[in-house]
Amino acid sequence: VSITNHMPTAELQALDAAHHVHPFSTNAGFATKGARVITGADGCWLSDSEGEKILDAMAGLWCVNIGYGRDELAEVAARQMKELPYYNTFFMTTHVPVIALSAKLAELAPGDLNHVMYSSSGSEANDTNLRIVRTYWAEKGKPSKKVVIARWNGYHGSSMGSGSLGGMKSIHSQGGLPIPDIHHIGQPDWWSEGGDMSPEDFGLMRAQELEQAILELGEDKVAAFIAEPVQGAGGVIIPPATYWPEIQRICDKYEILLIADEVICGFGRTGNWFGCQTMGIRPDIMTIAKGLSSGYQPIGGSILSDEVNAVIAATEFNHGYTYSGHPVAAAVALENLRILEEEKVIARLQDDTGPYLKEQFESLAQHPMVGEAKIIGAMGSLALTPDKATRAKFAGKEGAVGFMVRERCFANNLVMRHVGDRMIISPPLVISKAEIDTLIERAWKSLDEGM
Ligand code: PLP
Repeated sequence: VSITNHMPTAELQALDAAHHVHPFSTNAGFATKGARVITGADGCWLSDSEGEKILDAMAGLWCVNIGYGRDELAEVAARQMKELPYYNTFFMTTHVPVIALSAKLAELAPGDLNHVMYSSSGSEANDTNLRIVRTYWAEKGKPSKKVVIARWNGYHGSSMGSGSLGGMKSIHSQGGLPIPDIHHIGQPDWWSEGGDMSPEDFGLMRAQELEQAILELGEDKVAAFIAEPVQGAGGVIIPPATYWPEIQRICDKYEILLIADEVICGFGRTGNWFGCQTMGIRPDIMTIAKGLSSGYQPIGGSILSDEVNAVIAATEFNHGYTYSGHPVAAAVALENLRILEEEKVIARLQDDTGPYLKEQFESLAQHPMVGEAKIIGAMGSLALTPDKATRAKFAGKEGAVGFMVRERCFANNLVMRHVGDRMIISPPLVISKAEIDTLIERAWKSLDEGM
């Protein structure tokens, strides 16, 4: 059979349920309720097989920063596929797309983050980082510095290494994670965990857990600290202002490498090119993926400081992937960066649409179900609660209300995600003011229906 967009939706759904295993899903459920079949996309809008238009307030999975339907990227991909569809850079070879992309990333990345090792995803890049930081210390004559400290409810991917770095208990509980020598500390989620403390005191306290962990584990055992500048998959947790300066102080004091996982925050999401710039920190390594190509091609990487790179470059580092620096993905990423830069997408978000999005999104805090509406750049979160004053949780299973609101959003042709009882957004950075109005209108309606 030839399977096309023109087949009846029910038939496509039945085939999907029969043969496709969806990530992060209870797959048996698709036999009774088929997955929505997405057939196309343009700008901030998806189309489905029933002809519905859906506003994508998640930019896919936080990645389609320039929006859907940019022909330039398709053209670059086609041209590159004809010229050089594949070659690796393992054995004394290189190619122009990877040279050009690396030089561009060195220019865009702050400080002396000048050297890029590639992967096809954020998970792989964080696995790379684990090996890099341990190799770095071993090469510097300190092989006992192996432990990487990360945070509960952080997300760094779902491979064995990156899933271990992440602090999601639902991931740890399947398949034998975490691997050894990973240690987790608390997250700076004041809304859920701050109790009676002020956000500032709470942020400081959570940062100081890093110092306590270093002292408990022993300074000679700790290689690095990894964190997202703003936690994304954990529910868009924007840390109190006191948090990151204290983390930076502690990393400096104990010579702990700082890895900023910029897979979501990178490429404009927080209003600057990188989340570390928004948070005022100086990472030694940055993880990148997603917005690097706006999701048009799978590509990720680790950007290393001069110092880290100098140590790694002096040894044979036995690591890499068949598709590290894939020429088509690299060419598409470069074109994506050109568009972000030339069309001033990030500057426009900061000066024009961003303030409007903030004002409108924060107005959702007036809804009786919303305790807190917070947004930074174009990533935002609504904390749902039955009682704003006490920040109480809903009775019953945690996340059930969030799930229901998400279902209502989807029925109202709005993609929002829920993390527990938080509703989150991360729209394409090119979202217009009229689309922001539609987003807020549909979110409000869905919240009403979820009450
Ligand atoms: N790091 C962060 C901060 C992420 O949000 C994600 C994915 O959502 C990853 C890493 C993993 O990236 P990937 O899904 O491309 O493996």
